[in-house]
Amino acid sequence: MNPAPTLPASFREFLGNAPAVESLRAAIAAGRLPHSLILSGPSGAGKYTLALMLAMAVECERQPREVREYNPAPGSENDSAQPLASFCGVCHNCTRIAGAANLEEQVAVAVLAREDLRETDKKETRVLIQPHPDVLILPPDPPQLLIKLGQVRTLIQRAHYLPSEAPRKIFILTSASMMKEAANSLLKVLEEPPDSVHILILAENPGELLPTIRSRCANVRLGALPVEEIEALIAARRPDVPAKQRTLIARLAQGAAGRALGFDLDSYTAARADALIFLRNAAGAINAASGSRAAATELDHTALFKMTETYRAGADGQTKTLALLRALALLLEDLLLLDSGTPDLLRNTDLRAELERLAAALPFAWIESASHALDQVHSGLRRNLLRSLSLDAFAAQLTTP
Ligand SMILES: [Zn+2]
Repeated sequence: MNPAPTLPASFREFLGNAPAVESLRAAIAAGRLPHSLILSGPSGAGKYTLALMLAMAVECERQPREVREYNPAPGSENDSAQPLASFCGVCHNCTRIAGAANLEEQVAVAVLAREDLRETDKKETRVLIQPHPDVLILPPDPPQLLIKLGQVRTLIQRAHYLPSEAPRKIFILTSASMMKEAANSLLKVLEEPPDSVHILILAENPGELLPTIRSRCANVRLGALPVEEIEALIAARRPDVPAKQRTLIARLAQGAAGRALGFDLDSYTAARADALIFLRNAAGAINAASGSRAAATELDHTALFKMTETYRAGADGQTKTLALLRALALLLEDLLLLDSGTPDLLRNTDLRAELERLAAALPFAWIESASHALDQVHSGLRRNLLRSLSLDAFAAQLTTP
């Protein structure tokens, strides 16, 4: 199990993207943080972590300042003497905001609380996370996993009150996927944001946002960290990890520093072994259908169903199933990388020979449709947080050519 996410103790411990982070801190120190800001970047780049840290820097009761460490390019306008905003991490504002660090858990709790409501109230209740009276977090609302009108309405309503316990009101939308009415409604508040309000939109793909929303927001992009940087980080922070595993973990973490440091290679390898059973069966079924007799005799569903037997309901089963689906997604991506002639980008570098065999046996269209089916299972699982998934049905779907 990965440890529960906690926030870095200071901006210095936020890994990667130093120029972008420092420019935001300088803006806060100068009182010039944009009222509307899109933080974009791939999953795992630290968008949510950084958003909370920025919120702490804005709201901290002690307002500590640091000096610039990253040196801007010569001739750039950045003044190296400019102070950078920071946070103390211990005041009443900081600690409450930091309490929202584990977004997944906070959302799960909010969804479960809604499940307990009467049917009529359930429909009216939107998932919102409020770690502090002046900080409101809007995650995509299940089951559709979109930001909905009700959530944006709450934002607008609250934005018109002055902050009560901190200097500013901060709203964090953790996704750029919105219902149309929600986006239109958000646009109105972005046109004339109240003075004491900051709205942060976290976007994997800012292209999902209305162009009119994008044009009203400042955009700061966070890039994924290069593999070498993550390897060096693991070497420094997790000296117990052997050099060979460092490379593998760095690749599997997909540019995300936090994910790399918490990566449990043993659990991943176990989940991946099960995911491979899916793929071998699918390759066997496809060969059998195309009349290859050798493959037909190899086709053996026993291993598959023995494996799916071990995934059962309950919290343990849920964690195990999610790990299996994640491993399967990474394997499918690797197969697509092999198919597209970019084997250098392979993540599961230790399995290259087997992946090449599988890529040869599984047609491109099958891999694509399997990835799609996997996405659907995954969002279905997130929708019904505590319900068990029929892995058998999924297995049958995947292994039918
Ligand atoms: Zn503080």
